[in-house]
Amino acid sequence: MKISVIGAGPAGLSLAWFLKGTRHEVTVYEGLNDVGLKPCAWGLISGIENLIPISKEAIISEIKGFRIYLDDKLVHDIRTSNKLGYIINKPVFLKSLAEKIEVKFNTKVVEKNGQYFTTEGEKITDDYIIYANGHYSLPKDTTIPAIQYITDYQIDKEIVEFYFYSDLLGYAWVFPDEKGSKIGIGGWADVSFLKERVKKILKGKVLTFHGARVSDYGVLEERLNGKYIGEALGTVFPLTGEGIRPSILSAKILADSILNGKKFEKEFKKSKLYWAIQMQAKVVHGVKKGYMSLKGLSRIMTKSDPNLVLKVAIGDFDLTDAIKLFGRMII
Ligand SMILES: Cc1cc2nc3c(=O)[nH]c(=O)nc-3n(C[C@H](O)[C@H](O)[C@H](O)COP(=O)(O)OP(=O)(O)OC[C@H]3O[C@@H](n4cnc5c(N)ncnc54)[C@H](O)[C@@H]3O)c2cc1C
Repeated sequence: MKISVIGAGPAGLSLAWFLKGTRHEVTVYEGLNDVGLKPCAWGLISGIENLIPISKEAIISEIKGFRIYLDDKLVHDIRTSNKLGYIINKPVFLKSLAEKIEVKFNTKVVEKNGQYFTTEGEKITDDYIIYANGHYSLPKDTTIPAIQYITDYQIDKEIVEFYFYSDLLGYAWVFPDEKGSKIGIGGWADVSFLKERVKKILKGKVLTFHGARVSDYGVLEERLNGKYIGEALGTVFPLTGEGIRPSILSAKILADSILNGKKFEKEFKKSKLYWAIQMQAKVVHGVKKGYMSLKGLSRIMTKSDPNLVLKVAIGDFDLTDAIKLFGRMII
């Protein structure tokens, strides 16, 4: 089968990589002239390296600790001897995938009346067209703004810091970077509020400032038809904004469904990924609709076992953990 994939982010590139060497011929179309240009803090939770190669050159540091702050006070300082994840050089990682598959850069794809065209006017006639174009195709009310400063502020390369607030449905972060750190914030607020709020944790000389929208809605059920993967499907953890690993996992599930002739929707719904994202999404929706309070959520973050908070934050939790943390509110 000839397959076209719209978007060369983690989702689109990994789908093509997973299907490489099979009977399927995959072309990825990317509107920009390179990979990895979308703003991102480059944090990646462990596990994905068992599915897709992450070269040594793409690893900036290994993460062995999480600091969690609430209203700028440190509430959990979690250190482990295990590797929790990585800070990767996302463009280097994506480039190493792109080199091994067919990617057409500077080629935006547009849909007109159910037909697909490149910006040059070429009609795409492939049998199967898959959206992996990230937040760009999401309705605005399923995303929040996220902004980020790249600074020369030096922090421990093995630690990531997460900030939560009792008056903001969102999160801020200080992640180590090659030259210093990436300091950013995303939330259900306008950009001016976010800029003001992040000032408190902003340190060092600002080298770059940028931003993008990020999904906080969870998986869009109506897109579970095998035509969407990655953030275009809503595979971002709503409580933390983690989207790289979920995008790759969704691509893996679609690749396996295609190869085994199975229904993507059924396979995806069986996955822990789907369940964990939708659980976090219930919390976010609960706060937005007013049946869960932000203050309650803050209390949960502060008073609970740090390892449980960490498990839920990284999406590695089960029903028992969810009940322990959130009570029966989200079940
Ligand atoms: C500020 C910020 C920080 C973040 N930090 C992290 C983090 O540290 N860790 C983490 O896991 N996640 C993070 N995320 C989320 C993460 O970046 C995304 O969820 C992830 O990249 C989604 O991957 P994707 O492949 O689905 O989409 P994308 O990475 O968005 O890739 C989509 C691609 O499609 C292309 N495209 C769009 N429309 C078209 C079109 N019509 N034709 C052709 N090409 C098109 C785009 O140019 C883009 O290259 C962050 C997000 C933001 C905004």
